[in-house]
Amino acid sequence: MLDDTHRFLDLAVARLGLGADIQKQVKKANAEHVFRIELDSGKKFDAYRVQHNNARGPYKGGIRYHHNVKLDEVKTLATLMSLKTAAVGLPLGGGKGGIAVNPRELSPEELEELTRKYVRGLHQHIGPDQDVPAPDVNTNSTIIDWMVDEYEQLTGDKSRASFTGKSIPNGGSLGRDAATGRGGVLCLTEWLALEGQAEESLTYAVQGFGNVGSFFATTAKELNPKWKLVAASDSAGGVFDSNGFDAEELQKFKDGRGRFADYEKGKQITNEELLALDVDVLVLAGLEDAVNRDNMKSVKAKYLVEMANSPVTYDAHEYLEKNGRIILPDIIANAGGVIVSYLEWVQNRASESWSKTKVNQRLAKYMKSATNDLYDYVTENHTGMKESGFVLALKKLYED
Ligand code: GLU
Repeated sequence: MLDDTHRFLDLAVARLGLGADIQKQVKKANAEHVFRIELDSGKKFDAYRVQHNNARGPYKGGIRYHHNVKLDEVKTLATLMSLKTAAVGLPLGGGKGGIAVNPRELSPEELEELTRKYVRGLHQHIGPDQDVPAPDVNTNSTIIDWMVDEYEQLTGDKSRASFTGKSIPNGGSLGRDAATGRGGVLCLTEWLALEGQAEESLTYAVQGFGNVGSFFATTAKELNPKWKLVAASDSAGGVFDSNGFDAEELQKFKDGRGRFADYEKGKQITNEELLALDVDVLVLAGLEDAVNRDNMKSVKAKYLVEMANSPVTYDAHEYLEKNGRIILPDIIANAGGVIVSYLEWVQNRASESWSKTKVNQRLAKYMKSATNDLYDYVTENHTGMKESGFVLALKKLYED
């Protein structure tokens, strides 16, 4: 993933004629915090926070708990956050954190201990004007609430603006839970409208029906009832029904910790089969590198939406775009989460709580404008979608 991101960065830097210094600088993080957490039980975990760029505002980005977390991955994800906040015009920088852990192997008490110790290891480097972490893969508002509490005890800061993605009673924003998924629907809707196809009904499949993917589907049902959800998957496999699934029903099933392997409706399929379905849109909401050199030739969808970070590799981008596919790039398509994180941070600092309608309206404005910028750039320059997203971001980072 790091190499792929750097290849796209090289293309974008060259297109803008930014020169070797910037080409080097953009690949380097300002700070890398790496430490080890030891639980009372003796279990040990590697922990990271990478602060990539704060030229536009405090570092901003999630913290993921996943057994594959490594420094290179966190560095790449931090870079993508700097590009993301810039591409959608937020006054924030980019950072990312993670712990190499499979949270399902910990008891709730151990998870809380791990989380609090993570904050103890990092609290000097975070803060409302310094670095504002948020949830990411396998982290949620419960975990963020523990972080806020630990941070308050250590620093006395009561603003709650050092973290976003909090629960609502603890200073979270309405609409934050659904924001990434909602942003993806807004991006795709706007893109289709720009292509003059707004009224089309379409079929779509969601790879990775977790927090992001399931809210993509429930929002699609709300905003575009003509779109049909024909397949969904989790890490173990998925289900398919050409008549379509009800998004809320599937979301309820997954919220109850169900696995699609046990789902009674539709036909069981593997993740690879889902990626090869003859659908109009493939929503990639799992993990990085899902569509790669090995499976890119089987993809039939015309549109791919990068709801995870970097789910389509560089090679797969090249191949699919040559074959007329449209890939809505992660740094714009999945920016809804950080946009509403920003709105949460603004509310915390002003001691305000906005209605869900107000939050969603502001989110829609950001998504619409970023998607229009992308469309204009791609149609004027005939460049690849990801490269164009990176160009727009680098322009804001280095030219504005
Ligand atoms: N983890 C999300 C992302 O990758 C959200 C980050 C945030 O809200 O700061 O964009």
